[in-house]
Amino acid sequence: MDIATVKRYINTWVEENKEEFIQCAMYIFNNPELGMQEFKAVKALTDVAARHGFTIETGVAEMPTAFVATYGTGKPVIAFSVEYDCLPGLSQKVSAVKDPVFEGGPGHGCWHNILGTGALQAGIAFRHAMEKFGFSGTIKIFGTPGEEICVGKAFMARAGLFNDIDAVVDWHPVEGLTLIGRGSNAYFSKYYHFKGKTAHGNAPWKGRSSLDAAILMGHAAEMLREHIKPGKDSPNNYNYSFSDVGPEYPCIVPDRSSIWFVGRFNTTEIMLDFLERLDKCAEGAALATGTTVTPELVTALHEKIPNTTLSLVMHENYLAHGQFQITAKEQNFVKELQKNAGYEPVGLVQKEAPPATLDTPVSDISEYSWHAPVAMFRPAMFPGPTHHWTITATAGSSIGQRAIGYAAKILAESAVDLALTPGLLAKAQAELRERLNGRVYASLIPDHITPPVDANRHAMEKYKT
Ligand SMILES: [Zn+2]
Repeated sequence: MDIATVKRYINTWVEENKEEFIQCAMYIFNNPELGMQEFKAVKALTDVAARHGFTIETGVAEMPTAFVATYGTGKPVIAFSVEYDCLPGLSQKVSAVKDPVFEGGPGHGCWHNILGTGALQAGIAFRHAMEKFGFSGTIKIFGTPGEEICVGKAFMARAGLFNDIDAVVDWHPVEGLTLIGRGSNAYFSKYYHFKGKTAHGNAPWKGRSSLDAAILMGHAAEMLREHIKPGKDSPNNYNYSFSDVGPEYPCIVPDRSSIWFVGRFNTTEIMLDFLERLDKCAEGAALATGTTVTPELVTALHEKIPNTTLSLVMHENYLAHGQFQITAKEQNFVKELQKNAGYEPVGLVQKEAPPATLDTPVSDISEYSWHAPVAMFRPAMFPGPTHHWTITATAGSSIGQRAIGYAAKILAESAVDLALTPGLLAKAQAELRERLNGRVYASLIPDHITPPVDANRHAMEKYKT
């Protein structure tokens, strides 16, 4: 089978079928949903997949907004990864001036409406190529909720949903520099809930302050900072905030206080060592204040294992298409946005980093990478730093809409290379085995912990349309 012919077919298919996917992305843009509450998005995305002959399973891994769409049978099993959650506070119209749809409401400030639909179109284009040219294999499109809270894939991996995958082709738009095939840090999110005893503020000796405990734990964690390894490619670091302190009145000694930690570490090993010591900080704070503490792990991820073999495949397909293009009018829109956001109005700047560049953001796609080779295409498409209202403004614009097909082609073509080039998949998998060096995947989330399906439920209720 001639690979170039299959790729040409994919290109034409993506162009001819773009409207269905743009509509899907715009529907998700106009109905932004926070992590674990993405019911409308899941319906829209799975409706499209079902129309193209995929078998849909929703509610997987104990999460109502997680799904797997499957097509075909046998090997290889090629996976595409779909995300669709938005971010709090980033509501914005497609306008160059800051103009939220809902003041303080959620919005697609990370383009997940575009990236989810782009990955979906890639999987579906690949499926039509499979049928047209008669090659075999299985396509799995994973619908992964709550990416912004690093939840979906961690629980899907724990449920064994990634056990049989052979490769994952993925993407995420970024700012400035086109990157392919990076690693990422291990990550955790964990609460410590302190319980004390209330007393009137004028007789505090009768109370035991949960807030004192939480503050003391924060202080202990600060002391700990200099005693953790600094990290190689990016710093090992962590942040925390206080929440749920009450009663919310200074004249009562508080009996409930939580401190919420998130952290990023170069390796799982360093992170687990840190978490052990962080637990001790909590216990020490409780002991010192006469309170009790209950830890609650929300999620934990391994570091991502990069794959140069697969990244180079994706890089070749990217080179064949060149950088993402936008029109002069769109470039003006981007400059306006940048000006209004207080950035240098330079327009969309696109530079290219060498393939398989390593740096270290955090993403739950790391959980795929312990099961199969993963490549992530990160095209420069954002007008500025991510998680910002300017990103929401472009997520609903013609720039975002065009990005869907551009990414879909590069992802689907990379899948074609994997399926049809003899020995390529085996080479990528051998690289993964070598990098894992005998380590095997084991979920970092204990069995008794259930996914935080109620996260954001309350926040979403305020913005129901
Ligand atoms: Zn994102």
